[in-house]
Amino acid sequence: MPRKPKKPCKHPGCPNLTEGFYCEEHESLHRGERTGAANRGYNRKWQKARGRFLRVNPLCVECQKEGKYVRATVVDHIVPHRGDPVLFWDESNWQPLCKHHHDSKTMTEDRYQEYRY
Ligand SMILES: [Zn+2]
Ligand SMILES: [Zn+2]
Repeated sequence: MPRKPKKPCKHPGCPNLTEGFYCEEHESLHRGERTGAANRGYNRKWQKARGRFLRVNPLCVECQKEGKYVRATVVDHIVPHRGDPVLFWDESNWQPLCKHHHDSKTMTEDRYQEYRY
């Protein structure tokens, strides 16, 4: 078995050679970047967008169909985004739902659990 050629670590200025993208020393550093900090930024952005959307659209659309006025607490994705950022951030794909309707929707949709950002 030929050994994989080693490449320099992608961390700026690091002289170490590695078989992956980063040397052992920097691997954990950059893995943390991708999952931790990036997700927290994403989460903050979503909290803000969600809050703004619910201020403009404060009533549950499903309750309105039943002639009831119930405050929405959840922004639901009409078409499940399944992690697709384009669908996720497309406001025309958002609808305000109360917790009751959101829960009954996610229960019926092939038990797919919503991504919680
Ligand atoms: Zn390195
Ligand atoms: Zn409702």
